[in-house]
Amino acid sequence: MHRQRSTRIIATLGPASSSLEAIRNLHEAGADVFRLNMSHGRHDDIAALYHTIRKVEENARWPIGVMVDLQGPKLRIGAFADGAVTLTEGQRFRLDLEAAPGSAERVTLPHPEIFSVMGGGVRLLLDDGKIRLRVLSHGAGHIDTEVEVGGKLSNRKGVNVPHVVLPLAAMTDKDREDLDFALKLGVDWVALSFVQRPEDVREARAIIAGRAGIIAKIEKPSAFVSLDDILEEADGVMVARGDLGVELPPEEVPGIQKRIVRRARASGKTVIVATQMLESMIHSPVPTRAEVSDVANAVFDGADAIMLSGESAAGAYPCEAVSVMDRVAFTVESDPMYLAAVQSDLLIPEPTTADAISAAARQVAETINAAAIVTYTTSGSTAIRAARERPKKPLLVLTPKLATARRLALVWGLHCVHTEDAKSFQDMINKACHWALKTDLVDIGDRVVIMAGMPFGSPGKTNTLRIARASSEHA
Ligand code: PGA
Ligand code: MN
Repeated sequence: MHRQRSTRIIATLGPASSSLEAIRNLHEAGADVFRLNMSHGRHDDIAALYHTIRKVEENARWPIGVMVDLQGPKLRIGAFADGAVTLTEGQRFRLDLEAAPGSAERVTLPHPEIFSVMGGGVRLLLDDGKIRLRVLSHGAGHIDTEVEVGGKLSNRKGVNVPHVVLPLAAMTDKDREDLDFALKLGVDWVALSFVQRPEDVREARAIIAGRAGIIAKIEKPSAFVSLDDILEEADGVMVARGDLGVELPPEEVPGIQKRIVRRARASGKTVIVATQMLESMIHSPVPTRAEVSDVANAVFDGADAIMLSGESAAGAYPCEAVSVMDRVAFTVESDPMYLAAVQSDLLIPEPTTADAISAAARQVAETINAAAIVTYTTSGSTAIRAARERPKKPLLVLTPKLATARRLALVWGLHCVHTEDAKSFQDMINKACHWALKTDLVDIGDRVVIMAGMPFGSPGKTNTLRIARASSEHA
């Protein structure tokens, strides 16, 4: 039985979820894609997780997607002589390039590139925004600040500089090594952290060269400003609410989330809503009402996927968190308001054959009350266009490329099967009906709408729409 919902679930793996059994349980509870975080864990650990996921996949009923998340140019302070200091409002505090351990007066900020863009009045946010410094003056090797909001500051905490486009490369040396390693492993998606400009994505795309899909994490205001151009360059985006809510007042994040989801969907790109969705479940077996509402809202927005971070990587209840997402998504999608919501901004097809066929397939399926739409795809692009229509009927994807089936595990509504391409017109119908029955998406006697490209085996040529009836011969 395939998933009973269209919204996909990403579970981040970590110490709480690294064994074969733990990963299998997460998959069975509803995780469609696993995220491996390059900010934590050595290559050996990441490789072990990757291979364990592939072991789980051997006995799974559909392909599993793997996403690697690159750390990106995240700024961090150095260490303190005593591990931590307490900063008080109004005091002076210096960030510099000295190697000596920090004190209550100063600490190392080992990022020489950024000192030159520190105009007076710029705010620095430390430790997820808990501490706020205002820049008074700066030189080539130091930044003098006044503490606006104080508190305890410990070793290697993160530094955010909102509203300043930093002269930082999209990828650090570590990111390049991690990316090379991840591509050799065979991951399906790469998420880029702290994207600031479309060129950052372009740079990564040149290296990745089609070997994985690219998710640009929108976690800087400058990325949101360039959203349309970033969407052109990337295969998808993530509403990375953790850092976004530090860089911007958190009350602006919900509206931005809606805009990002809507624009990504309009351009046919995959969109993920992430961070703190079920945060309290790190410690509690049940979510708060507000968290359930938050997950439900992302589903109502029509996001492709919702994501767990600490809840599944380091929490006490990883499977329970996935189950909550699964139930919330299923329940929302069964609500008559759901389809009205996701189809209300019904997207105008672009003047391409793929869009024309996708829009027609949706309409035909709804008109004749077909049980499913079946689409043949090699690269996955036709299936993504079909999903962009957000049809009421399930979408079954048949692809001869395992990598495509795995990558599409992240996309709204796609049920993927890795199988050979159709060899003839009759074979196209037989295969489509066979898999639709086998995956329990249709019953004998149901009609299916089939999208395919002819001649067979030539990618990017979807040009055919066929209605067929699943019969006992197809089973
Ligand atoms: P992170 O990204 O978990 O890698 O920080 C997501 C976010 O910032 O929301
Ligand atoms: Mn982040």
